[in-house]
Amino acid sequence: MTADRISNPTPKRGNPLLHDLARPFPERVAEAVRAWDAHDHGPAHLVDGKAFFALYCWRLAATRRGEEPDEATAAYVRQSHNALGGQPGWSAMLRQRATCSCHGTTWRLENISLCLGCLRYVCYELDGPCCAGAEIVG
Ligand SMILES: [Zn+2]
Ligand SMILES: [Zn+2]
Repeated sequence: MTADRISNPTPKRGNPLLHDLARPFPERVAEAVRAWDAHDHGPAHLVDGKAFFALYCWRLAATRRGEEPDEATAAYVRQSHNALGGQPGWSAMLRQRATCSCHGTTWRLENISLCLGCLRYVCYELDGPCCAGAEIVG
């Protein structure tokens, strides 16, 4: 999995779907899962990078609220996680740094949050909501 991640720089086709800012985040996920389903659950339609970070944090937040995704969505998150390199890949991602859009300061991903409306990173010092009605996860 790790070798695959390094040797395969092809952008995942799920990424632009999760970056479709005109739609609520859960609808973007549903669209990505449908596309993946329509392409035989192939690796090319998974997500990685920031789109995966958003997806995984969204999923974790839902789990903390006691919500369980449908089986297809759960499988999509799991397969994207595996493609990233599983737990080691996720841990490595959390050590990467990103700049918050609210103050321009840099943080490790494990210490920063993400607005699911605009997919911009925001830090804990953000004063108030980011996009109206959008969930902040991370
Ligand atoms: Zn900030
Ligand atoms: Zn926002």
